[in-house]
Amino acid sequence: MISFSRRSRLEKAGRRARWSGLLAAWALLSAGQASAARPVILAYHQVGTSGGTTLSIQPQQLRQRVQGLRALGYRFVTASQAAQAGPQERVAVMEFDDGRQSVYAQAFPVLRELDVPGTVFVIWEQVGQPGYLTRSQLEELRAAGWETGHHTQSHAPLSRLSAAGLTQQLQPPAGVTCVAYPYNLQDARARRTARAQGLNCGVTGGPYLPRRDPLAQSAPALTPWDGAFLGARARYGVGGRTPLLAGAGLLLLLEQSPGAPALPAPLDWNPAGYELLGNGSLSLGLRGHERETRFAARWGGNDQGDWVLHLADRSSQAGRYRGFGVAYHRFPYTVGGGWDSAGPLLAGSLSLNRSGELWARWHPLAAGAGQEQERWAWGATLIPADYWQLYAAQTPGASEVGVNYWLPGGTPAAVRPWQVGAGYRHGDGQSAPFVRLGYAAGSYTFSSELDGAGRWGLRFGAAW
Ligand SMILES: [Zn+2]
Repeated sequence: MISFSRRSRLEKAGRRARWSGLLAAWALLSAGQASAARPVILAYHQVGTSGGTTLSIQPQQLRQRVQGLRALGYRFVTASQAAQAGPQERVAVMEFDDGRQSVYAQAFPVLRELDVPGTVFVIWEQVGQPGYLTRSQLEELRAAGWETGHHTQSHAPLSRLSAAGLTQQLQPPAGVTCVAYPYNLQDARARRTARAQGLNCGVTGGPYLPRRDPLAQSAPALTPWDGAFLGARARYGVGGRTPLLAGAGLLLLLEQSPGAPALPAPLDWNPAGYELLGNGSLSLGLRGHERETRFAARWGGNDQGDWVLHLADRSSQAGRYRGFGVAYHRFPYTVGGGWDSAGPLLAGSLSLNRSGELWARWHPLAAGAGQEQERWAWGATLIPADYWQLYAAQTPGASEVGVNYWLPGGTPAAVRPWQVGAGYRHGDGQSAPFVRLGYAAGSYTFSSELDGAGRWGLRFGAAW
């Protein structure tokens, strides 16, 4: 016991230093890379209608954004041209998702006058439907220098689709080379499918990546204050998610847990996760007295070499866990290493032919009291059919299996916001089945769980 508490004191000090150092390195890396100009992509939907400044914009504001960015030295191009731009070029993109009629009626006249070529990302099933652009209007925009991009066939949340669903939704019409992922939901499977279908440019949400990935360029979420913060948005990618990420990071960094014994890692935490990750994700969970936070961010490269940072934090009345992993991906393998409450860790994952991921976690030095169950963990996530997800995870002391399904319904039909799930969990001397109900609002998800022992769980997730 004495050696354990001395070790945990030393570890605590070391852990705090490691975390601060890691976050500082991440901030420096991002800021350093941000000194290279990157495309400023402003992604709108409706123009001149109500619906908030983030989804809708007034023509007069469009004019102000163009003038503001030009004053900062930016040149307006299409999304495909931006993906090809050099690292020192200051280029900006006016993006309009969904292909609404108001783009033609309200944005086109203003942007034509300013000599700005827009990019309209079209849901192909909606072309010609009431409220949406017609083929002849798309032709007219193209003749005026605009780009027509791909917004999938029916606006499906790609990260919930099977390999077959991804192929069908990402199939672009001839001549279309850029995709905007609906709800900013994408993953390595979607990026790989897009490339295989001849797309060489993609736009998603979230903060800037330290490196640029032409297939997942960042268009940080718009805010009602963009006019005032245009310079910070352009240079550092400050956007709608910045306060959420900064707040979560600050809470983790500041939260102290003096004297707390080390907890095991979250059962299904995969420090080498890659296949089902977009540009990043954040999840916050509560179950009983336990709180859990996970964060993942991709450096941004492509299948020929890509990096991911994973952080996990867990605390309860029984103790505290903090862990990080850095992983390198080269299709189909991802290998990683890191450090957590049980010492150094090694991890690996394998991409399962666009149908999921198999992973393992190993603590080579975990042999001390109470660390047996930390020695190894493995798990798998499978997407066997559209809107179905199966998963399993196991350590020597705990296990969980589960299934998730997104119910038919929603507008558009492909969104399917309601999720149901069920599974079985074993650990801490208890075994119980559980049921889950979730709701997705764009790329944000909220879910609640109830298990057979009467414990509630809540989880909030954001992906980009
Ligand atoms: Zn959309």
